[in-house]
Amino acid sequence: MNDKTTKHRFGSAEKDMIALGIATAAIIMFVGTGGTVLPSVIDAIFSNGSGPDKLLVNAMLLNIALIIFGWRRYRQLTVEIAERKRAETQARELAEIDPLTGCLNRRSMAIATDELRGNAAQRGLAIAYAMIDLDNFKQINDMHGHSIGDQVLVSLAERMLKELPKDALIARLGGDEFAFVLAYEPQQRSRIDEIVIRLFDQVILPFRLKTLVIDATMSIGVATDHDEEVLNPTVGDAAELMHRADIAMYHAKKQGKNRYFWFEPSMENELRFRHELEAGIRRGVAEREFVPYYEQQIDIASGELVGFEMLARWQSPQLGLVSPEIFIPIAEEIGVIAEVSEQLMQRAFADARQWDENITLAVNISPVQLRDPWFAQKLLKMLIAHNFPAHRLEIEVTESCLHDNIGMVRSMITSLRNQGVKISLDDFGTGYSSLEQLRTLPFDRLKIDRSFVSELRNADGSSMIVNAIVSLGRGLNMPITAEGIESEEVLESLKEMGDLKGQGYLYGVPETAEDVIERLGKINKLAPEQETKPVRPSAEHELDAIELRMKSAAK
Ligand code: C2E
Ligand code: MG
Ligand code: MG
Repeated sequence: MNDKTTKHRFGSAEKDMIALGIATAAIIMFVGTGGTVLPSVIDAIFSNGSGPDKLLVNAMLLNIALIIFGWRRYRQLTVEIAERKRAETQARELAEIDPLTGCLNRRSMAIATDELRGNAAQRGLAIAYAMIDLDNFKQINDMHGHSIGDQVLVSLAERMLKELPKDALIARLGGDEFAFVLAYEPQQRSRIDEIVIRLFDQVILPFRLKTLVIDATMSIGVATDHDEEVLNPTVGDAAELMHRADIAMYHAKKQGKNRYFWFEPSMENELRFRHELEAGIRRGVAEREFVPYYEQQIDIASGELVGFEMLARWQSPQLGLVSPEIFIPIAEEIGVIAEVSEQLMQRAFADARQWDENITLAVNISPVQLRDPWFAQKLLKMLIAHNFPAHRLEIEVTESCLHDNIGMVRSMITSLRNQGVKISLDDFGTGYSSLEQLRTLPFDRLKIDRSFVSELRNADGSSMIVNAIVSLGRGLNMPITAEGIESEEVLESLKEMGDLKGQGYLYGVPETAEDVIERLGKINKLAPEQETKPVRPSAEHELDAIELRMKSAAK
């Protein structure tokens, strides 16, 4: 019911109070007139009296009409008041309750937490605020749609309701973010640990929905207002507690998800550092601070240099040279990975055009980039703009790409391959690709992760996993690259396994574009001078043509 209607009804209810007053007055008058009229009527019937005064009879009839009118309005008033109360309750619930799960919402949770905290403090109790976030909710939504996502959230809320003590406050703060607040004896923190662990036990059980079964994990951060059993004066209110629980939850995510942490002050510094990194990366994109380094790729049997893998570095003015393991995950999360990658590839194509035309260039592509349906088109456009032959380019994707949207990844890989680009499956063995995916996805190469290759250092120089991957590659007709070759012993073991490519610190650490030119100059593997000139004049036309072709293919 909207505001206007409520006001209107309220106005009419006020008028009805007047109607009730009139009816009451009418009853009093009825008693008066009736007291005179009725005896004269009885007298007229039984003793042939002159009958009541006509004026008085009319007054009495008017009284009766007013009483009926007043009574009816009074009944209406009662109904309207009940309706108004219901509307008010509904409005309050809408403001306080999450409509999907029936839990408290962010606003009401803050108020309820402050209230609970006040009561708990009087009884000498501590408060624990737990922030809960599903780890893979975006994927669930993307893969199965929002209605399935909603069903998972409702089931999660039901599990929490069942598992948590009756006096816990439970809220859905938004999206897949839940929270619970509970008072506890300050000396018994372990009680909160037990409850959280029980919750984990429940959430790892698959969500059995009507049409499918969904697996989910969650990360939890917990904050308390008691430090070592005494009230912590720095926790001012519910908002502060929530902030701390949020930081601890974030820490749990960073530590690999599917776990929980109690808040510790050092986590706050970590978060501050993270914000600084984010800002630095954004600035780095604007200032083009990302630079390609190159790692040699060698044909193990002949020892010949056959290509380079481009590995990103961030030349930060504040932090110096930063490893991709630090900035790539953040660039992915804050949505700038495509831009970073594009800047790097532009430089790498320009660099690689100075190399001998038989030397290949491998670039790593993030799973986030593969979610862009236009990725293949953008990449091919870039190749043409730099006049870089597609057959010299190899893109490396990791197994995590295969979880996202296998159909789209397959069609993207196919269209890139049709243009001549090669596709390698990087860090093979560390993810979850199935044999079926390997068989049906058109990869050109498998790269054995260096954690397996390093096993070859064993005294007998063998590794069951490396052997298995090499024979799998042979069976699937996929050539193999071994990563992370650090010693002669490992290299010798690999040589016995057949025709492989290899890379690793034994051959050299990743180096700058200038160092690569120097290296290639020494072995006479630089491109002839004229080959290195920039974009061909006709490239612009070719660009437009390929854009047209791809657009019509997309239709
Ligand atoms: P990766 O693609 O598996 O690259 C190999 C990593 O192993 C590189 O680390 C390389 O320096 C290191 N490495 C090579 N040989 C050896 C060795 O013998 N021993 C040891 N201990 N390490 C070796 P880096 O450069 O730190 O790159 C780490 C990861 O960052 C890469 O793993 C790749 O997944 C990612 N990455 C690098 N550049 C890019 C990029 O431009 N885009 C994306 N999306 N990811 C990138
Ligand atoms: Mg790689
Ligand atoms: Mg790798």
